[in-house]
Amino acid sequence: MPNSSLIDSYNRKLNYLRISITDRCNLKCMYCVPPDRIPKIPHKEILSYEEILRIVRVGVSLGVSKVRITGGEPLVRKGVYDFLEQLTQIEGLLDVSLTTNGVLLKDNIYKIKSTGIKRINISLDTLNPKKFQKIAGYDCFDQIWEGIELAQQIGFDPIKLNVVPLPGVNDDELTDFARLSFTHPFHIRFIEYMPMENLPMPTGRHLLAPEIKRRISILGELIPVEKNTTDGPAERFKFETALGEIGFIRPISRHFCNACNRLRLTASGQLRLCLLSDRQEDLKAALRKGCSDSQLAEIFIQAVRRKPSEHNLEADHPGKVLGQMCAIGG
Ligand code: SAM
Repeated sequence: MPNSSLIDSYNRKLNYLRISITDRCNLKCMYCVPPDRIPKIPHKEILSYEEILRIVRVGVSLGVSKVRITGGEPLVRKGVYDFLEQLTQIEGLLDVSLTTNGVLLKDNIYKIKSTGIKRINISLDTLNPKKFQKIAGYDCFDQIWEGIELAQQIGFDPIKLNVVPLPGVNDDELTDFARLSFTHPFHIRFIEYMPMENLPMPTGRHLLAPEIKRRISILGELIPVEKNTTDGPAERFKFETALGEIGFIRPISRHFCNACNRLRLTASGQLRLCLLSDRQEDLKAALRKGCSDSQLAEIFIQAVRRKPSEHNLEADHPGKVLGQMCAIGG
């Protein structure tokens, strides 16, 4: 029976750990990577796989049952497939998933499958190859799309496509994305843009879930889908005859903080209590000073008590978060 020592001061049970395994990425998306590129974290400051696995084992002993691997781009890190295999074998860890930009998917999809990962999220902000190059800095849309189709063919389910809608950039494609859910069993997830440090908002204004919903409703009625345990904060819907689903992640227009079950481990070993707040605990320092597993567990438990009740980003008063998405992992 899993322990559940990770209950915060607001009675939220934190059983979901999102881990950024690298700050490196093979794309430079306009809303994620600052134009004056941030210095990369030196290799020795990045947690080793052994350190990550140890933290996960301790987390699982405290009640973590779900882990998502992210980045930077997780698939660019050397040795990632062996690491994923070790991760999926950790006893008590019920769900291991991966978020990727899909660039390396096509060539590595069988390797990913053999690690035991069953669920992948792919970030894709446009269905137009030319626009993809503008948003992400590289011309590799076709390669990503082939990877997505292959992933579907070999049985990954569900495949979630993460879209960050930006006015004047890709908001002319909202219905194209939504339409995909009729022909493919994909879960299209519209994620509200979150302002981060050093990165001016690409278009100066927000495009929030209610407006996205309104625009795609021309395709039909959005029927709510009952939540399941792996949903996280997504609000799920389906068009009546669609194979796939539509989801909204609304960090700005509807805080889901009161139901938050997430902790994050950054590439440099900080246990981050909220994506949008810079409060964090230095697990790497503790590990490298030689702490025992029970000391590590105690750091987890104490840190969790300091998880903020909610973040303070609002559409009209966006705060700035010091961390960078590519090091925190989104
Ligand atoms: N490289 C992987 C990928 O592209 O999916 C994983 C890392 S990426 C930081 C994780 C997710 O964060 C992506 O879906 C991306 O769209 C999202 N993201 C990055 N910056 C964001 C922002 N400012 N607001 C909302 N989502 C953001």
